[in-house]
Amino acid sequence: VKRELDVTVKVLYCGICHSDLHNVKNEWGFMSYPMVPGHEIAGIATEVGTKVTKFKVGDRVGVGCMIGSCHNCVNCGDNLENYCPEMVPVYGGKFSPNNDNEDSNGTINYGGFSEIMVVDENFVFKFPNNMPLDGGAPLLCAGITVYSPLRYYGLDKPGMHIGVVGLGGLGHVAVKFAKAMGLRVTVISTSPSKKEEAVNHLGADAFLVSQDAEQMQLAMGTMNGIIDTISAVHALLPLIGLLKTHGKLVMVGLTDKPLELLAMPLLLGRKIVGGSAAGGIKETQEMIDFAAKHGITADIEVIPMDYVNTAMERLAKGDVRYRFVIDIGNSLKS
Ligand code: NAP
Ligand code: ZN
Ligand code: ZN
Repeated sequence: VKRELDVTVKVLYCGICHSDLHNVKNEWGFMSYPMVPGHEIAGIATEVGTKVTKFKVGDRVGVGCMIGSCHNCVNCGDNLENYCPEMVPVYGGKFSPNNDNEDSNGTINYGGFSEIMVVDENFVFKFPNNMPLDGGAPLLCAGITVYSPLRYYGLDKPGMHIGVVGLGGLGHVAVKFAKAMGLRVTVISTSPSKKEEAVNHLGADAFLVSQDAEQMQLAMGTMNGIIDTISAVHALLPLIGLLKTHGKLVMVGLTDKPLELLAMPLLLGRKIVGGSAAGGIKETQEMIDFAAKHGITADIEVIPMDYVNTAMERLAKGDVRYRFVIDIGNSLKS
């Protein structure tokens, strides 16, 4: 540790999010290199600064999408550090002078594909005892990214019907959280081969193949909300058609190109298209505790560090059920 509020984390596991892949390819155009990805980080606290109160050496801890914010703005005051204009992403960002950090020398910070991380305790999470570090790590991005909009957009009332579009890393945990909240869940997917698993294993109530016009037609006007996790350009109008009056389509997937939106189908039913990015620190801890209580973890394929390039290629093809997690602790042992 360097600063009195720092926690040194020995990284044991780190998930691979599709955002890491977008960033490796610079698909959003703002990455600077060298860059070390990884924002679904779980490990053990090995050292704590003199003023750290939340953690002690040996604690099971996590780090997610961000490691700093201004602590002074309206968003920070509302526990929405993720929307702070000074938010420091866990990798690819720089500490700004406003973060009150004597290390703000313009160094770009590196993410969780690393042996250790040193992070302000305010941006470190506690893993409950019954939450595994490997299956729990992906919750720090995939989990909070779907949990937060379900709560914020009021799509968390038992009995509501929601759609989850895209059954990947985000989508599969969205199904689990939505079921734990007592919702009726329909998965909307391009992959008919995922139906069996979605319904029998993940607990979805129904499964629609998005290219099947007949299936989509039958489900028109039945959903209170949709969480759209698709990582590529796709048609929004069929999804808006699935919404009931006052339904909400929430975008969490991120494409590099614009999506086509017509006003008419929104007006006819007072429908809303919104977005959501990760979540604040307080809500992320709440999400982890909720997940631990309901036995929610990600379905993972654990891989060694030297498999990461192959994993990225497989992720690009959608060939993962449903999250790669790097076994960093054991990869770096030898
Ligand atoms: P992922 O594991 O690759 O899952 C994406 C899923 O989208 C795929 O499994 C596939 O599901 C579907 N899909 C992929 N390409 C498609 C296409 N061309 N047309 C239709 N469906 C397609 O990715 P992820 O890690 O869940 O991330 C999903 C997106 O969310 C990424 O863009 C990522 O950058 C973004 N993200 C945003 C936030 C945030 O804060 N808002 C946080 C994390 C990630 P089916 O096989 O079921 O069709
Ligand atoms: Zn992510
Ligand atoms: Zn702020």
